Amino acid sequence: MKPPGRRNLEPFGVSVFSEFTALANRTQAINLSQGFPSFDGPESLMDAARQAMADGHNQYAPSHGVEPLRQAIAAKAERLYGLTPDVDAEVTVFSGATEALFSSVMGLLDPGDEVVLFEPTYDSYAPCVTMAGGSPRYVRLLHPGFHLHEEDLEAAVGPRTKLIVLNTPMNPTGKVFTRGELEIIARVATRHDLYVLCDEVYEHLTYDGRPHVPLATLEGMWERTLTLSSTAKTFSMTGWKIGYAVAPEPISHAIRMSHQFVTFATATPLQHAMALALASDDRYYRELLRGYDARRELFLPYLRRAGFDVIEPEGTYYVMADITPLGFDDDYEFCRWLPGEVGVAAIPVSAFYRERGGGRNLVRFAFCKQRAVLEQAGERLQQLGRAGA
Ligand code: PMP
Ligand code: GLN
Repeated sequence: MKPPGRRNLEPFGVSVFSEFTALANRTQAINLSQGFPSFDGPESLMDAARQAMADGHNQYAPSHGVEPLRQAIAAKAERLYGLTPDVDAEVTVFSGATEALFSSVMGLLDPGDEVVLFEPTYDSYAPCVTMAGGSPRYVRLLHPGFHLHEEDLEAAVGPRTKLIVLNTPMNPTGKVFTRGELEIIARVATRHDLYVLCDEVYEHLTYDGRPHVPLATLEGMWERTLTLSSTAKTFSMTGWKIGYAVAPEPISHAIRMSHQFVTFATATPLQHAMALALASDDRYYRELLRGYDARRELFLPYLRRAGFDVIEPEGTYYVMADITPLGFDDDYEFCRWLPGEVGVAAIPVSAFYRERGGGRNLVRFAFCKQRAVLEQAGERLQQLGRAGA
């Protein structure tokens, strides 16, 4: 028999999140690997979803999303960022940011097009580009600061480049791109006539007063920018898989063309419930941030006391930590060993690099967990320092 697999997907292997959540479950370790909250989102949302089912919202939704949800997304974009997308033509609902990424890349690229990615890169970007027949070109951002330099971005752009993918706040680094860095991206995109896909799923999680600035709000950038977000992080319902895109009509049209043949539509009653969530006032977002800031403050000192060199996150609910001071030099080896020995699971950061050399000294912990869970994990990690490995 012919091998059934698609050859150019093989190098990407099984998703690092599947591997380490399965390992955490097998070893009954505290799972700080895959980024999902250890608590549910608002009870009122579950009531609204049950009500939507009882009210008969159980058949296919329109492919681009139910109107109340698109209206709520547009209203939020205007209230928070001053964007005024057209509800019918410029707002699209997807089955999570993951599907939004895939459908967008499939809808925007022709085979042979090149896409600039910033490394470390969220795990699904390069596979999406590859499945669309495109080629990734990488700009590596370096610790400390993971600063973007204009000449590096320029050097990655060639005649076949069509798209830049930006993730801010950035997973796994916790970096929040500065306005100056966004201006670099805007200049290069304009100079070379490129589109920019902005993955802003952690838009509400920026610490120490840093603002979240959508690239689409920069002068002249609306026309060439596609902004993705997700209700998964903001409303602590990662399993509901409701994401969305806001983009000018020609880009929205392009991405809807592929979305209609990928999932066609997203779970109808959950969309109706999320419409209520997105109408939340600013207090909800302030409380969400306060909660995560407190978790960051609680958990990082445990890592430092355990002996890690901690790279303090400016945003997101992840923290990267250097394992070198603990006497380890291989992140995969460490992360495969840690759950069974110490009872905590983490993600090896080299999974976010195209070659295993990058990030090999770093691991990522997700701190989207209740305080008691973080305290227990933090206590367990103290063994590392004591062992003096
Ligand atoms: N982009 C980034 C940067 C992420 O961290 C994640 C994971 N939460 C996603 C996209 C996928 O989001 P969703 O769960 O809505 O598919
Ligand atoms: N975004 C989540 C993380 O970075 C994982 C999502 C997934 O499992 N695909 O941990």
